[in-house]
Amino acid sequence: MRSYTQFYIDGRWTSPVTPKTAEVINPATEEVSGEISLGSPADVDLAVAAARRAFATYGESSVKDRLDLLESIQAEYVRREAELGEAIMVEMGAPKGLANGFHTLLGKGHLGTAIEVLKEFKFEEQRGVTLIRKEPIGVCGLITPWNWPMNQTCVKIFPALAAGCTMILKPPQLAPYSAQILAEILDKAGVPAGVFNMIQGQGSVIGAALTRHEDVDMISFTGSEPVGVQIQKDAADTVKRVGLELGGKSAWIVLDDASLAANVAGATAGMMGNSGQTCSAGSRLLVPASRLDDVKRAAAEAANGVTVGDPQSDVAMGPVVSKSQYNIIQQYIEKGLEEGAELIAGGLGRPEGLDKGWYVKPTVFVGTNDMVIAREEIFGPVLVIIPYDDIDDAVRIANDSNFGLGGYVSGEDLDTCRAVSRRMRTGAIWVNGGFDFHAPFGGYKRSGNGREWGEFGFHEYLEVKSVIGWN
Ligand code: NDP
Repeated sequence: MRSYTQFYIDGRWTSPVTPKTAEVINPATEEVSGEISLGSPADVDLAVAAARRAFATYGESSVKDRLDLLESIQAEYVRREAELGEAIMVEMGAPKGLANGFHTLLGKGHLGTAIEVLKEFKFEEQRGVTLIRKEPIGVCGLITPWNWPMNQTCVKIFPALAAGCTMILKPPQLAPYSAQILAEILDKAGVPAGVFNMIQGQGSVIGAALTRHEDVDMISFTGSEPVGVQIQKDAADTVKRVGLELGGKSAWIVLDDASLAANVAGATAGMMGNSGQTCSAGSRLLVPASRLDDVKRAAAEAANGVTVGDPQSDVAMGPVVSKSQYNIIQQYIEKGLEEGAELIAGGLGRPEGLDKGWYVKPTVFVGTNDMVIAREEIFGPVLVIIPYDDIDDAVRIANDSNFGLGGYVSGEDLDTCRAVSRRMRTGAIWVNGGFDFHAPFGGYKRSGNGREWGEFGFHEYLEVKSVIGWN
């Protein structure tokens, strides 16, 4: 049993002002795996005051000092990486290969990228008589979700540290352990007191207190659209900057060519990764109507081939994060059936042989873009295949969404893939796969307004000052 009942405030492990704890449930077993403390606005006040004090010096620290700090965190992160992987597996059910692989690698990648970017970043440039300075925005509230816990926290903390900001992290209640270990890593690496603070607790209490706080300059939020809307309203009175990274319903366009079956299989298996709990997942698979039979065969085979089970074993997919997430996904599968979508793999209930734990069957529907299952973010292993008539129709369907986070184009003709990628109204598009820590990541439309990752992630945490008459 893990017991993480202290917060990290002003460089010390600190008990909550008002003691209150909550159990953390392992989604693979439905059993209690440990406990955390739930903070109150009084804890937030202490952390914000510490961050404000620390900003006076850290905000003016040299690039060299910040690079040394990030490099010392990097050494400590690598030392604790296996513990982070184990924590992620227990808290949100990622299979061990994924938890110890891509999950922890993403955190390490954002750290390494922040170091690379900081080495080259121009905080000052002269244009004519004016000096343009990029200065740290100040005290930042970082609010993160549970689905890729290290990715979401590290993509905020390290650019913020590199920019010279101080911060308070509010990790998700559902995945609190990895954030606690990360706080230990930062402590051990010698982050100056007050620069990084962490308070566990409810979003509606801690997240809201940070968002409304007079002395917090900026909120960076990753999570659902409704909470993002609430955060923007809560931040309005203090006119603070709000960076929003919200949900998605991303389209994956498969072109009509010889690789169609392989591309459909890849897209289907990809959708089931992390149990479908990825904001940029290609949850709408757009395929040529004339090849629908081939598509159905390839997608059903790929979905049925996804191994589901105990995250401690060698499976492709573990459970979803919680009972409530399981129930929401089941309701969407029911909705798909009611709407008349054709079920070609998976369906209601747990996979055979798994009677305990929040396991969902890798599910594939063939439907239309006006169905609820094609319009709303399900955040589970449920793929909707939507046939298109021609490329124009595919682009029209892809763009007919309230969201605009990710997008995918798979096909043999790179020129066509590129042309399609230009027409899709989303923040990031993968053409035949690929991965880049320096590529800006964020959404159009209701998928948010921020851009994280690489150099773009730095700008979230910087103010721009003009000093006119410098020259
Ligand atoms: P939520 O929006 O429910 O929660 C996200 C965080 O916000 C949690 O820490 C939560 O706290 C906190 N929170 C809840 N209410 C408030 C409030 N009123 N004020 C401030 N903070 C609050 O999202 P989920 O955790 O369920 O994550 C899934 C969502 O995140 C999906 O929609 C997904 O698409 C999106 N997402 C977006 C990404 C992107 O980069 N665009 C990446 C990954 C996920 P608590 O611990 O109490 O829940």
